[in-house]
Amino acid sequence: MTLRVAVVGSGPAGSSAAETLAKAGIETYLFERKLDNAKPCGGAIPLCMVSEFDLPPQIIDRQVRKMKMISPSNREVDINLVNEDEYIGMCRREVLDGFLRDRAAKLGANLINATVHKLDIPQNNTDPYTIHYVDHSEGGAQGIAKSLKVDAIIGADGANSRIAKEIDAGDYNYAIAFQERIRLPEAQMAYYNDLAEMYVGNDVSTDFYAWVFPKYDHVAVGTGTMQVNKASIKQLQAGIRARAARKLVGGQIIKVEAHPIPEHPRPRRVVGRVALVGDAAGYVTKSSGEGIYFAAKSGRMCAETLVEVSQGGTRIPTESELKVYLKRWDRKYGMTYKVLDLLQTVFYRSDATREAFVEMCADRDVQRLTFDSYLYKTVVPANPITQMKITAKTLGSLLRGNALAP
Ligand SMILES: Cc1cc2nc3c(=O)[nH]c(=O)nc-3n(C[C@H](O)[C@H](O)[C@H](O)COP(=O)(O)OP(=O)(O)OC[C@H]3O[C@@H](n4cnc5c(N)ncnc54)[C@H](O)[C@@H]3O)c2cc1C
Repeated sequence: MTLRVAVVGSGPAGSSAAETLAKAGIETYLFERKLDNAKPCGGAIPLCMVSEFDLPPQIIDRQVRKMKMISPSNREVDINLVNEDEYIGMCRREVLDGFLRDRAAKLGANLINATVHKLDIPQNNTDPYTIHYVDHSEGGAQGIAKSLKVDAIIGADGANSRIAKEIDAGDYNYAIAFQERIRLPEAQMAYYNDLAEMYVGNDVSTDFYAWVFPKYDHVAVGTGTMQVNKASIKQLQAGIRARAARKLVGGQIIKVEAHPIPEHPRPRRVVGRVALVGDAAGYVTKSSGEGIYFAAKSGRMCAETLVEVSQGGTRIPTESELKVYLKRWDRKYGMTYKVLDLLQTVFYRSDATREAFVEMCADRDVQRLTFDSYLYKTVVPANPITQMKITAKTLGSLLRGNALAP
């Protein structure tokens, strides 16, 4: 037999999964409802993603080497990457997603421009699943209703995942993020050439940070907040616009976008022979709100496990075999999620803790540790003396601002 696998959604998670499956010779169907989808996103990716996913230079709009952290009282701390070959990649999602999707298709995945809306789940362990979808490549605006039988499914259809609902994967709390793409006059854009800004404060985000990220010919200006505070999102956006106002003079809004961001993994990420990856699974980190790399990695890791346990696509895997992907994922990234969750709880609590956070970012050891963890996704423990220094400075920053007061 040749295993038939449907991957639903062709963001970074889905296309990375489809590429791995197709390379292994598995019969792969990649569903995408909108081939020109421009996912609302800051588009910041770590350096390691460029090499690990073999991204060509044209995918990266800008190489950011300077990061400005701006505290509630507008204290600015500059963090510069000194190594020439290190940078944070800034990309437009329509470009990145298009590239990854086309590559998966070239490698043999069958790309279907369709919206998946229903799943028939088989009673026994070897019968196929039936995917019901509306094909947009035929039948004009209405599309044509079709179905397909497959042996396994990877749900990579983002935060509002239909596949998660169909398998009753359970809900997660989510944040809502809002972003405006603003085209700036040349002189202002030059300021953001290789610079990104992160603002913290109750006025710009009650739970996270707000950002100005440079893209090809514009900046992305946005903020996020937890679901419970979502009524205030426009006010928070006005807050970041006000704080960055001087630098955005003469700017023209070219796009306004918003989207949910999962806050933690879903209760069930593998059910039967259906596995969730990326935002559908809930793999965005706290504190940084980073999800692109984790989406692509989880898609790849899930597909690699599927190839392995199906012995190269020659047998139908079981639920417990597919769950090996979860064990591997949690082992590799569980600690990263925990640490970033803790950082968010400690530092985004109040304006006093945010002041302490920005103060701490002025320290070179903290900068190196933070950048190494972000750029390379390795938690490299600092030597014990540096670690003690960082801990003392963290506590010092918190105490000075009376940030530990209840
Ligand atoms: C405003 C904002 C800013 C962000 N900034 C950053 C950032 O700077 N860096 C970072 O790393 N992360 C950022 N994130 C998070 C990041 O965008 C996500 O974590 C990432 O997009 C997840 O990728 P994914 O492939 O899992 O899902 P998605 O990118 O959401 O892709 C899902 C795909 O599935 C398709 N689809 C959905 N339903 C169906 C269906 N029923 N049938 C067929 N196709 C379907 C969609 O069209 C889409 O193409 C941000 C998020 C937001 C909202």
